[in-house]
Amino acid sequence: MGSSRPQTPAVSTDTSEEVEQFDVIVIGAGVTGLYALYRLRELGFSVRVFEDGSGVGGTWYWNRYPGARFDSESYTYGYSFSEELLQEWDWKEHYSGQPENERYLNYVADKFDLRRDIRLNSRVTSAVYDEGENRWAIQTEDGHRARAQFLIAAVGVLSAHYIPDFAGLESFQGGWCHTARWPKDGMDLAGKRVGVIGTGATAVQLIPEIAKEVAHLTVFQRTANYCVPLRNGPIDPEWQREIKAHYPDIFKKCSETPGAFMHAFDPRSALAVSPEERLAQYERLWGEPGFKKWLANFYDIMMPGEANEDYAEFVRTKIRERVKDPVVAERLVPKDHPFGSKRLPCESGYYEVYNRDNVLLVDVREAPIERITPRGIQTRDAEYELDVIIFATGYDAVTGSLTRIDIRGEGGQTLKDKFAEGPRTYMGIQSAGFPNLFTMPGAGAGNFTRGCEPLVEWVSDCIGYMRENAFTRISATPEAEEAWVQHVAEVGANLLRTKAASWFVGANIPGKARVLLGSPETAPVMRTKRAEVAANGYEGFLLQ
Ligand SMILES: Cc1cc2nc3c(=O)[nH]c(=O)nc-3n(C[C@H](O)[C@H](O)[C@H](O)COP(=O)(O)OP(=O)(O)OC[C@H]3O[C@@H](n4cnc5c(N)ncnc54)[C@H](O)[C@@H]3O)c2cc1C
Repeated sequence: MGSSRPQTPAVSTDTSEEVEQFDVIVIGAGVTGLYALYRLRELGFSVRVFEDGSGVGGTWYWNRYPGARFDSESYTYGYSFSEELLQEWDWKEHYSGQPENERYLNYVADKFDLRRDIRLNSRVTSAVYDEGENRWAIQTEDGHRARAQFLIAAVGVLSAHYIPDFAGLESFQGGWCHTARWPKDGMDLAGKRVGVIGTGATAVQLIPEIAKEVAHLTVFQRTANYCVPLRNGPIDPEWQREIKAHYPDIFKKCSETPGAFMHAFDPRSALAVSPEERLAQYERLWGEPGFKKWLANFYDIMMPGEANEDYAEFVRTKIRERVKDPVVAERLVPKDHPFGSKRLPCESGYYEVYNRDNVLLVDVREAPIERITPRGIQTRDAEYELDVIIFATGYDAVTGSLTRIDIRGEGGQTLKDKFAEGPRTYMGIQSAGFPNLFTMPGAGAGNFTRGCEPLVEWVSDCIGYMRENAFTRISATPEAEEAWVQHVAEVGANLLRTKAASWFVGANIPGKARVLLGSPETAPVMRTKRAEVAANGYEGFLLQ
């Protein structure tokens, strides 16, 4: 274990090859992994981060598709742990785009000298718990091996990208890519016939950007979503000064709201005010940027029922108003799930795209995709000829990035087998039988960095507590885990989030168990619960 100052890793020769030894191994160099490295190093532990990508940034390294940007206000998303960083960094837009977000995370890596402990181009393929030694042994795709007492899987909730298993993809003669693997030097789409599969949050950002340059765009839609105007804009110098002067207020506000955004629900019921007043509020919030229309609205819009349906109808009307062809408009109007049951896609000119002559919307629920052909996409009704196919088909969310690693705990049990019917964890942090392995579920449905900073602090404090108290092994008890799994199921059943076939419940991946993947509790409740657990000597965990 580490002492009070940073250490250089020891190299042991416990096998024929040299194996690097650390106090902590972190998998992933996104927002979570970078902060875990910073925090643990500050506490004096030796840490090594292994990252699949050739750069840091995680989500903001991989998602280079045109239009990729925050739906969080930029200045609420950035790290809060360094006042110096807060004052140095200028967010240029209210909802900053991928290039800037990637620059930000690189700036953080440089400022805090994080790179020297990060091994890039290192996909971890296996992580095996050595019971005798009480150490985790990891191996990367290129055969590199390392061992550590603690393993932090900061592998991302939306990082295991998913491409449906369409027959014939290998025969396609054009180019294709998934939005999360957009090439660094871009894709040449100018003058091409392009097909986009999917109409989730990613596609909604991408489509207006590429519609302008392609010769023809065919959008293959399975589910129509409620999309709301982002209303992005530059941050002028006066705003910049305001933001920098008020960071403590901004973060305090975020710490008080359910999803850690700076928007608080209106405590009134939508049904308790007159129809005129209700509509006036809907319209006012519609004109505001970002998630306000969702998270600053009447509180019961976020609950299944009449208020939710009233607002859903308001949004449907907005969609119909923007699309000229009534048949196309009706296809774009969501009717099969409640408003707000998915993370709300924020758009900039999305619906107007369908008024363009070079854009066609194909409903693949009506006529499913049968196969990819050498020339394009064959649905039940027609073949669409394409030069490029873009898969905006999302992620095997939350658990996918964990189960794609061969993680073996006590008795050789694999995490993949253990999670076959859904994640089995205690508070999302640990799974019984996998001692000293911390999974980092993040905020799930919330403003990510606001959720992950306190979580990283909790985990690193826990490791620090173990050092101080001469414990070497922490493991969630099966009883605490079972109680948490039950709690997730019971509370989750009443949440709006479980009322749609979305990634929140694994519904986008064929064969995946249909359970709520994240915590059903709000960010403040989770923070309080974790604090209580720690204050009670890490209740629900066995410390040895
Ligand atoms: C397009 C998009 C937009 C988003 N916008 C927002 C937003 O506006 N606001 C918000 O709050 N959240 C947003 N999110 C959620 C976003 O994922 C989080 O905000 C945050 O970036 C997650 O950080 P992370 O470090 O936990 O995971 P990630 O950023 O996903 O990083 C995980 C890293 O782990 C690496 N990794 C995974 N498996 C392995 C392995 N086996 N070996 C080595 N490395 C591995 C990956 O390469 C990746 O770099 C968005 C997500 C996406 C996909």
